[in-house]
Amino acid sequence: MSEPRLLAGAPIAAEIRATVKADVAAFRRRHGYVPTLAVVLVGRDAPSAVYLQQILKGCRNVGIEGRLVEIPGRVSAARVRRRIAELNDDPLVSGIIVQMPLPKRIPLSTVIEILDPAKDIDGIHPLNAGLMTLGYAGFLPTTAQAAVELLKRSGIEIAGRHAVVVGRSNVVGKPASILLLRENATVTICHSKTRDLAGILRTADIVVVAVGRPRLVTGAMLRPGAVVVDVGINVVEGKLVGDVDFESAKEVVSAITPVPGGVGPVTNALLMTHLMRAARAQADLRHAGHPLAGAR
Ligand code: NAP
Repeated sequence: MSEPRLLAGAPIAAEIRATVKADVAAFRRRHGYVPTLAVVLVGRDAPSAVYLQQILKGCRNVGIEGRLVEIPGRVSAARVRRRIAELNDDPLVSGIIVQMPLPKRIPLSTVIEILDPAKDIDGIHPLNAGLMTLGYAGFLPTTAQAAVELLKRSGIEIAGRHAVVVGRSNVVGKPASILLLRENATVTICHSKTRDLAGILRTADIVVVAVGRPRLVTGAMLRPGAVVVDVGINVVEGKLVGDVDFESAKEVVSAITPVPGGVGPVTNALLMTHLMRAARAQADLRHAGHPLAGAR
């Protein structure tokens, strides 16, 4: 098989960012301020997480204000709730994302119960999950959206094709499968209890892998000509690798995303589009004098 097409995220991300930059400038002219994205880090001392730094850099790149909100030390659920409630009420903060995973003693419900769905720009709130499932406009989980957007913007045909999603988490696998279904793919979802993963993968035209296990999917498990989106991010011997064994996969597939440099940059850029959408919606409500807009 000839060399596969590399589905790089950078050019797509740059395209998305250019639009966001123009949006930010227009918003500033109209409303006189720049919207803020609050990135909440619970219970860790140093804001070292690469992902988090990349989000703050993504904000700088488009002229959005990125605010790191640290709740350090051994925090209680009540304190997390109070801090998120403050961000909900801050009219300058248009979007809130909370770094996962949370410390073990803080259940996800602590965040979900309090987070304003209008500021939930990474689509973790059940209201946004419901809107997505029913096909209405809500905030989509950004990584899942990035996986599908990458295919669409690369001109890969999705409708009518068999897409196999490996992983069923609420943040990536499940929403990716719903979004592929919305694009009219025939979708199969695999997970840790799936029997004969290789057998199912060999029937796939499109494969999206979001597991968190280095090199789980190898070339021998893929159908010749398949298109592969590798969402996985794993550190092996100090290097970032995906869930797909790139070396063996590239001998078989027609197109594949690199790790790093595939889904990640698109995720980051799309998050900025969500922030601007949230900012516009909140500003419009304020202009209309809505009683719930701004400070409550
Ligand atoms: P997660 O919550 O741990 O979910 C992993 C999923 O993989 C689960 O559904 C699990 O099945 C399934 N799984 C585990 N072992 C399996 C196996 N042997 N065969 C088939 N399925 C298996 O992980 P996540 O949050 O979805 O993240 C997945 C990966 O994406 C991670 O590497 C993460 O770092 C990466 N990620 C990347 C980005 C990005 O921007 N590129 C963003 C977020 C996450 P069960 O449900 O049965 O347990």
